[in-house]
Amino acid sequence: MKFLHVCTFLLFSILAFSQAKSTSIPISSDRELVEQHIRFLASDELKGRRVLSEGIEVAGQYIADYYSMNGIKPLGEEDTYFQKVPLKISQPAGSGSMSVGKESFELGKNLVILSGKKVDLKQHASIFAGHGWIDSTRNHDDYKNLDIKGKIVYVLPGTPESSSPMAVFEAMASKQAWASEKGAVALIELYRLNNFPFQFFVNYFNKEQISLSKDGKENSDQMTYAWIKETDLENINALKGKASFLSDLKHSGVESTISICRNVVGLIQGSDPELSKEYILVTAHYDHVGVGEQGGAAYSEEDSIFNGARDNAIGVSALLSTAKLLAENRPQRSIIFAAVTAEEVGLLGSKYFADHTPVPIEQIIYNINTDGAGYNNTNAISVIGFGRTGVDDLLFKASKEKQLEIIPNPVPEQNLFDRSDNVSFAVKGIPAICVSPGITSFDAVLMKNYHQVSDEADTIDFDYVTKYCQTFAQATQLIANWTQKPFWVTGDKYEDAGKKLYGLE
Ligand SMILES: [Zn+2]
Repeated sequence: MKFLHVCTFLLFSILAFSQAKSTSIPISSDRELVEQHIRFLASDELKGRRVLSEGIEVAGQYIADYYSMNGIKPLGEEDTYFQKVPLKISQPAGSGSMSVGKESFELGKNLVILSGKKVDLKQHASIFAGHGWIDSTRNHDDYKNLDIKGKIVYVLPGTPESSSPMAVFEAMASKQAWASEKGAVALIELYRLNNFPFQFFVNYFNKEQISLSKDGKENSDQMTYAWIKETDLENINALKGKASFLSDLKHSGVESTISICRNVVGLIQGSDPELSKEYILVTAHYDHVGVGEQGGAAYSEEDSIFNGARDNAIGVSALLSTAKLLAENRPQRSIIFAAVTAEEVGLLGSKYFADHTPVPIEQIIYNINTDGAGYNNTNAISVIGFGRTGVDDLLFKASKEKQLEIIPNPVPEQNLFDRSDNVSFAVKGIPAICVSPGITSFDAVLMKNYHQVSDEADTIDFDYVTKYCQTFAQATQLIANWTQKPFWVTGDKYEDAGKKLYGLE
């Protein structure tokens, strides 16, 4: 029933389009199109466009159809508009406990199981291995002269150099890989971050985890990787001195599966023989958070759908408006449109795209992203990353034409640059900005709809949002035809990455 429902819905949307194309219905105004995009994408039928849901599949098809209608070329896989993004979905262990010496640990209380298949080990050979760290440049190897094969290995958090929270989290993947390679059955890390409550860590890892799959195959880790709260382990110092000791470990296993979601990617080939080798990348995420508990905020029986009209149907509408404008007025540089997925679960669609660009990444010279929490100033647009990539005059020109002001880098304490897809490209060195509707602060007006079930199309000011979309499209056009090539301003955080990417050193 469900599948049929989606198919029927899809058929209607495609039929509506083909009719609009084949009959003599007058061309829709920008405002009509903007409203149509937002009403469709934020409709209850799409159920909040949660990644890996039926609703987001329909949204993706809608975007692909619109590209197609406007003569945008497919730039996904196998001559389609879709780039497959493999996600690893891990379900936490349902039960678990362990004990060492006189101390015992309970899952969710002072024990977190991060990965590993089901185990039940009793009085099992265990060993302490320093930080479990290897650094050949410093001639440091905690496993030198230690045989950890088949054993439970206890390690300190972080590295010999640092046990700051950042260092601890960054070291995790390498430590897990080394212990696994050397044949340990379990790696137990001792948690001792005083200013970072263990319960936060428990809550974070004790729910479904979504991450990019490394190889697109089922790759559940065999070895158990767990954390215990060290303050409960009084005799750890005694253990450190022992060559080996015994411990018990039992848990029901972390199950991982691989699922595919999709970026929707299209191309306009630039008109200039030389400049068309340079690509401007236009991005907007088209996923949102879904229904009910998935939304992580208040909902009711009458309304449980997080429609995501502002976040980010507005942005997708701006991207589609840009596709239409530039298809009708082909710019000198080439344009890649990427409606990206899985932003709400960790910017995963854009990260995947940045690692698998359909053209050589150094030919992508700019990223203009559109995303936002909503708006509380309809006389302006916001530009996150304003003043950093040399295009400010072009942005002023585009916004002035629609009588809109620019709010540069609003609400700096929210660190917005690092909270949307633009950052996935900035870290690679590509000059990037995020354009958003006008916000002055995260005040009550903004928070009323931000990630709430009330973020619906009916509450949108379509006159303003049309101007927003037109401004975004025009800004993109100006950058695509600019006689100069944008680059990070001197001293920017990403200047070095940019120089490396484009071979400017
Ligand atoms: Zn967003």
